[in-house]
Amino acid sequence: MNAHQENPHPAPQLPTPVSVIGLGPMGRAMVRTLLAAGHEVTVWNRTASRAAGVVSDGAKRATTPREAIEASPLTLLSLTDYQAMYDILTDATASLSGRTLVNLSSDTPGRSREAATWAAGHGAAFLTGGVMNPAPMVGTDEAYVYYSGDEDVLTRHRAALAVVGAPKYLGADPGLAQLMYQAHLTVFLTALSGLMHATALLGTAGVTAEQALPELFLTADTIGAMMTAGEERPGAALDAGEHPGDLSTVTMMGATADHILETSATLGLDLALPSTILGHYRRAVEDGHGGDNWTRIIDGMREPRVG
Ligand code: NDP
Repeated sequence: MNAHQENPHPAPQLPTPVSVIGLGPMGRAMVRTLLAAGHEVTVWNRTASRAAGVVSDGAKRATTPREAIEASPLTLLSLTDYQAMYDILTDATASLSGRTLVNLSSDTPGRSREAATWAAGHGAAFLTGGVMNPAPMVGTDEAYVYYSGDEDVLTRHRAALAVVGAPKYLGADPGLAQLMYQAHLTVFLTALSGLMHATALLGTAGVTAEQALPELFLTADTIGAMMTAGEERPGAALDAGEHPGDLSTVTMMGATADHILETSATLGLDLALPSTILGHYRRAVEDGHGGDNWTRIIDGMREPRVG
């Protein structure tokens, strides 16, 4: 066979060895999923005892971060924040050259950009990632992960990264995946706070959380339907700067927000969440937009009042 002929029986590609640094619930879920997909996985965690479970599942334990980096061409970082990466890799920077770091930890877009520059300074390829599912869903068909940074890095390691969740590439800016992660988590965290405030509200009347939550989930479904279908199409209208006031107006929503605040106060609940929400509608009313659709509250978020 000459150099230009394709081998009709190419050797099957072995799964890339992967190192995982950070073994919280998310890191451990990634390790188990990678092991199940046939990857050789090396792990390191600051609190060594947290590695015991995945080591008994078949992962190799590195005794130092440097050993973990040197064990694989690809290292996934699953940490509380980006500072943890610097803390961990301080003594391993000499080993980074020619290797790939994929940081799947939460932080700001700015710190993700700085990290990409830092990694490049040590000769390492770098990708920012945001895992968009809870740990138990890692590796399932529903799991997906946003990535941004050098697309070649994703292309090179797509097979291993796809084991964790379907990769969604956003662009070359290493901060973009982090921004998307934060955008999702803004929706997620406010919804979780809303669910707990609502459960506390119902609890004052003896409604248990077990009874309350399935009812409240119905509203979560309604939000999805409202944002993606029907006459309102708030996304398209928002992009066009239109808030026509033909369905749910600022005044109506603001009145409801006022009622929630008053009820919460009467029942002795924390008022932080309902006060903040009411503030969004009050601002739009003060700006003369009471008759617009509720989407008008985005103006106050884009241009907060100083003082
Ligand atoms: P945990 O907080 O449980 O674990 C964080 C990891 O970071 C641990 O391994 C911890 O080490 C390590 N760590 C933190 N600070 C330092 C430091 N200064 N030096 C060394 N190690 C440090 O988090 P999760 O596993 O739940 O999450 C990891 C990342 O994944 C987070 O960024 C999170 O936002 C993201 N994520 C998590 C999801 C989930 O369902 N859990 C869902 C989607 C994203 P040690 O064990 O020694 O404390």
